[in-house]
Amino acid sequence: MSATELVGNCLCLDFANTVTKRPEGHGDRLVTMEGLLTWARASGAHPSDVPVGGGGVALSEAINLRESVYRMFSAIAAQRRPEPGDVAVIMNAYAAALQSAHLHLHHEGVGHVLRWPGQRSARPILWSVAASAARLLLEGPLGRVGECPSCGWLFLDTSRNGRRRWCSMAMCGNQVKSRRYYASKTAHR
Ligand SMILES: [Zn+2]
Repeated sequence: MSATELVGNCLCLDFANTVTKRPEGHGDRLVTMEGLLTWARASGAHPSDVPVGGGGVALSEAINLRESVYRMFSAIAAQRRPEPGDVAVIMNAYAAALQSAHLHLHHEGVGHVLRWPGQRSARPILWSVAASAARLLLEGPLGRVGECPSCGWLFLDTSRNGRRRWCSMAMCGNQVKSRRYYASKTAHR
């Protein structure tokens, strides 16, 4: 897990990106609880100085939330209506997150963030993701949510012109461009 894989510009979208190329799915980062914890440390979903055991959270619960987040924002990126079941999964996780959350002043003093002090399970990781998804749903900008046509990774387009197409040029943009270049060369032979 490297920072270069965190291209979503939004925690919940980076969580959805822990698997590549749905529906066949490969390169899944959440095959083990350790994979979930590694992602959480890299993405900041859980502070690295808090010891965490997996206790209390089933991996299937994490994957269930991830797939609902993916389908929700994939639908939004394609301007389709999200499935009510996916809305419910996210809203239920957000409700649980709020129930145990503390308000914590952001270190730059610009507002507050949700924190779950004293929690030693991996549950706050899922709560952070649910809170991120709820914030994006409530505040947007939903028109800036995109999905890479090559690998299915989601991202929030923060570019000035709003024309981002790929998860990243390094990972998919250049690959697709060079494949196209090669195909056009061979086609003209
Ligand atoms: Zn991609």
